[in-house]
Amino acid sequence: MCGIVGYIGKQKASAIILEGLKRLEYRGYDSAGLAVQQNGRFGLVKKVGRVDNLIAQAAKARLTGTTGIGHTRWATHGGVTDANAHPHLSSDGKFALIHNGVIENYVSIKKFLLTKGYTFQSETDTEVLCNLIAYHYAKETEEEGTSRFLTSVRKTLHHAEGTYGIATMCTDCPAEIVAARKGSPLILGVGDNEYLLASDVSALISRTQNVVYLKDREIVHITARNFSISTLDQEDVAPVIDTVTWRVEDSDLGSSAHFMEKEIFEQPAALENTMRGRFSEDQSTANFGGLNLPPFEFRQIDRIHFCACGSAWHACLVTEHLIERFARMPVEVDYSSEFRYRNSPLPASTLFFIISQSGETIDSLAALREAKRKGYKVLTMVNVVGSTIAREADGGVYQHVGPEIGVASTKAFTSQLLLGAMLALYFARMRDMSYSDGVEYVQALKMAPELVRKVLEQAPHIREIARRYAHYKDFLFLGRLSLFPVALEGALKLKEISYIHAEGYPAAEMKHGPIALISEQCPSVFFAPAGEMFSKLVSSMQEIKARRGRIIAIVTEGCELPPGLADELILIPPCHEAVLPIVATVPVQLLSYYIAVELCRDVDKPRNLAKSVTVE
Ligand code: GLU
Repeated sequence: MCGIVGYIGKQKASAIILEGLKRLEYRGYDSAGLAVQQNGRFGLVKKVGRVDNLIAQAAKARLTGTTGIGHTRWATHGGVTDANAHPHLSSDGKFALIHNGVIENYVSIKKFLLTKGYTFQSETDTEVLCNLIAYHYAKETEEEGTSRFLTSVRKTLHHAEGTYGIATMCTDCPAEIVAARKGSPLILGVGDNEYLLASDVSALISRTQNVVYLKDREIVHITARNFSISTLDQEDVAPVIDTVTWRVEDSDLGSSAHFMEKEIFEQPAALENTMRGRFSEDQSTANFGGLNLPPFEFRQIDRIHFCACGSAWHACLVTEHLIERFARMPVEVDYSSEFRYRNSPLPASTLFFIISQSGETIDSLAALREAKRKGYKVLTMVNVVGSTIAREADGGVYQHVGPEIGVASTKAFTSQLLLGAMLALYFARMRDMSYSDGVEYVQALKMAPELVRKVLEQAPHIREIARRYAHYKDFLFLGRLSLFPVALEGALKLKEISYIHAEGYPAAEMKHGPIALISEQCPSVFFAPAGEMFSKLVSSMQEIKARRGRIIAIVTEGCELPPGLADELILIPPCHEAVLPIVATVPVQLLSYYIAVELCRDVDKPRNLAKSVTVE
């Protein structure tokens, strides 16, 4: 949540920062702002609303400086107002600062600063940081070889409890930025005679592929000519420059109406990329180079504990089903936000797996650290290469689906399902799955992109259904076994982008409560794939129909439903059960997307949400 951009170089900072903010807007869009160094003062523009709003305001402000910082906000403390937008200035006007995260002890810091005569313009937790820097700066004396600016930031951060990614400027140091992180992401871009800062690589890649991923409790001091990194405790850090492989075109909209549409239709290619090179030579199992789990170590493990949030949590539930079914290993799935505080008793033979698209989800990062603190091995499934979760884990697998910009996850989710199915295979083949079953499973997984392509061909039909159902206020999504989590995901998709109330439920549980909701006004999206549960699912549908509920049925081609039972029918191709959750997800993605479009919702930036939840 929240996007941070910084620039020092020879170009007009405002243009580069605004372009970066536009690329980061999906991380927060309550307000946006920027400050540039301008003749010994700050040129400051900040505005409620979208980055386009800021671009219009900034054009009037004639910001010519070559050093600057910018921010898109996802409000945590204080309403969505111009005054609460970042950057914030210290009350003496010497410091400008942007912040991602939450300063938990801001009330006591504020009290202290008020007694020292500092004043506040906003209701945010953030503003205490710039005034505290100003306070320390005023007390410091200039010393040969040390930066007073850097020392004041370091002293301030020693008092700050909570999480932060910050970037700050000082009017006394016109071509310098000091930035630091703890819990929130921050990346330094090393360009051609210029330096950039961002909370996400997508804001950097149009100017450089060379980046330094800052670690927690590190401070970077950037000047026009160089940069140096140290820890909060003043130890020097030797920078490691990594190369980013994402291309700038990957985060462009192209000819699609929305990123969500683009990402739904990219899924066949995304799935190809996820599985590329990951099957063994004899094609009977999966290979994961970075898992760091040699077979002798795997043999010590009795159970797997997954932690995740949001859609990734649904992907864990599907993976649980597949691992238990095929590898016959017990699996536990936890919300990261619950796990981190619950102190569950865990057998020593537990392996941890954390799933996070961004690799920065704060609760999942905390769950990872908690599991590692207790001495467990922690592996991850992450999309963003170099992200904090990927770096702190003992090993893991990357999703390789390119940037996901739509706030509602689509291609990242199906790629997590695919990797989950591949993990189930990998574990199963180290236990009891036979060679020939392994070969069959691999062949089935390889079909996934083609099967998804077939479902995507039905987009016009699903769009028609969406038109007919967009005005309903409540929906149920019902499925069984591995499609119960897909029902949860379908309900989540509809809620987050259409603002329509929806619930996912195991189809047979409906009788224990949710059936009370059924009426002509509450349609049910029903997953009824071919298989041994089919006749049970048909009975559940009959129970809904008997109460005049409308049914949108997602059914395998060739399965016959009693005439008149389904009001709408969406067919999915027959497939192996490891691929079924992927194939069944696509119709509900399309349905939610088209309903949101029908209702003229802001599909890529739904209200109150932001991508990559980096605050608690
Ligand atoms: N806590 C700060 C605020 O509410 C920063 C929020 C963010 O990360 O965008 O302004």
